[in-house]
Amino acid sequence: MALARFVGKFSSQTSQLLRCPGFHAHKAASLLTSRNLASQTLETDIADHAAKANYEARCDLAACYRILYNLGFDEGVCNHLSLSCPAKDGSRKVMLMIPYGLLWSEVTASSLAGISLKDPGSPEIYEEGYGQPDISSVSIHTGIHHAKGKDGFSCILHSHVPYATSLTCIEGQKLEMVHQNSARFLGEVCYDNDYDGVATSLEEGARLGKALEGKTVMMMGHHGVLVIGRTPSEAFDQLYYLERAAKVQVLAMSPGRKLAIIPDNILEVNKKFHRETFRHYADAHFVAMKRSIEAEKPHYRS
Ligand SMILES: [Zn+2]
Repeated sequence: MALARFVGKFSSQTSQLLRCPGFHAHKAASLLTSRNLASQTLETDIADHAAKANYEARCDLAACYRILYNLGFDEGVCNHLSLSCPAKDGSRKVMLMIPYGLLWSEVTASSLAGISLKDPGSPEIYEEGYGQPDISSVSIHTGIHHAKGKDGFSCILHSHVPYATSLTCIEGQKLEMVHQNSARFLGEVCYDNDYDGVATSLEEGARLGKALEGKTVMMMGHHGVLVIGRTPSEAFDQLYYLERAAKVQVLAMSPGRKLAIIPDNILEVNKKFHRETFRHYADAHFVAMKRSIEAEKPHYRS
């Protein structure tokens, strides 16, 4: 399904004054005015709150692009990261997405387009960025946001990072539990081996969203990887350590000798520790990495 431009405009609902025979007209008019003012104030508050949340989300996603670029997780002007958040006017949720043609190193808060998540079948551009996202990115991300948003997941990172992607190009290959960085992914990974060429339909995103049921990492056969997080820091931390774990595994596999798998009881201990500390470590990691891009020009928060 091709992207259509959004042409509608958000219009606020005016509250209706209930009829009451004991009211004089001027009292009713006065109450109507005060209610309208209260309603307008509430709408203004909602819009202010939404605008702030929208801006912070834009900054966080722009930071993700910049940091992952510096780590070499990008690929030309392809691959894509997205984050759902309130629209600036508070009327709906939007999915922030890089416009096609920008390098990850060029992304700023205001450059990101906001795609409406109001209607799963019609992901129009609701907030202008510096151009249009490509069809593949919208196809993949929209369906996953609709499928996983209800479980609290807001951030999706899709990349062709070389080591993790190389594992998807070996028949039957899994992310093996051979290193401390691998152990955190115990039970978190699903394998999608139904590669069908470049994604161009919304149905593909819906299919991927279904496949992610109960998982936060997808190894996409012949293609790349995709991780989801409840926050940008969670998703970033997952992608960072997925690639680190894959790199160690590929290097360990290179001599052609049998891999040493961590015993199940140790894996369970590691998993429990990770579950209890994940949010804390992920937040600290992301904040530290954001400091590393503070001096870049133009600044990612612009
Ligand atoms: Zn891809």
